[in-house]
Amino acid sequence: MSYEALQRLVDGAEQIVFFGGAGVSTESGIPDFRSVDGLYNQKYDYPPEQMLSHTFFMRKPEEFFRFYRDKMLPLDAKPNRAHLKLAEWEKAGKMTGVVTQNIDGLHQAAGSKRVFELHGSIHRNYCMSCGKFYPPEYIRDSKDPIPLCSCGGRIKPDVVLYEEGLDNDVVSGAVSAIRKADLMIVAGTSLTVYPAAGLIRYFRGNHLVLINRDATPMDSECDLVLRDKVGEVLGSLE
Ligand code: ZN
Repeated sequence: MSYEALQRLVDGAEQIVFFGGAGVSTESGIPDFRSVDGLYNQKYDYPPEQMLSHTFFMRKPEEFFRFYRDKMLPLDAKPNRAHLKLAEWEKAGKMTGVVTQNIDGLHQAAGSKRVFELHGSIHRNYCMSCGKFYPPEYIRDSKDPIPLCSCGGRIKPDVVLYEEGLDNDVVSGAVSAIRKADLMIVAGTSLTVYPAAGLIRYFRGNHLVLINRDATPMDSECDLVLRDKVGEVLGSLE
């Protein structure tokens, strides 16, 4: 049984780093917006990748926020077994950190503290003029098509849009967490999205495990590959 093989690796590890993508949150009911979904085509004039670009945000903010409110603000979503297990391992002193491509904040909701959010978070929103902070509920509930600050400035979610660079502090924190770990679990990502593949190169530990429904370019380099749902796998471990 490969779950048992993973359990042995976890038991033998002193410091685990987790690298997760959209597949970690699908069991919380959050769809991967990159997956083929006719829904978008019916409702929107542009593909999601275009609507989530910096240029689009600046030029068509009303359309951006229509999509963003509708698809990117799953504020009712709850952490699943994957999020909860990782938080448990962190509490037990077994984690150097969670590196995630997700922006839903579910790792923190589960109790994880050392989370490196490569693509930012829907839970932080700032006025582009004065820097005032706003919670995601403000974006959701705003009556204006474009949510505005009390100063009149436009509010921008602190998520990394296409064409935007990653936060340097987040990246160096992620690199450091990856370097210090002796077991790396990569899950729910096809590893084709920048900078996932690049960051994995920093791993110097003994064992690399991949949990993903589909094949990835990294499969041959892993000690163990599991083709199951992430929450199902991690939820079955101790
Ligand atoms: Zn302002």
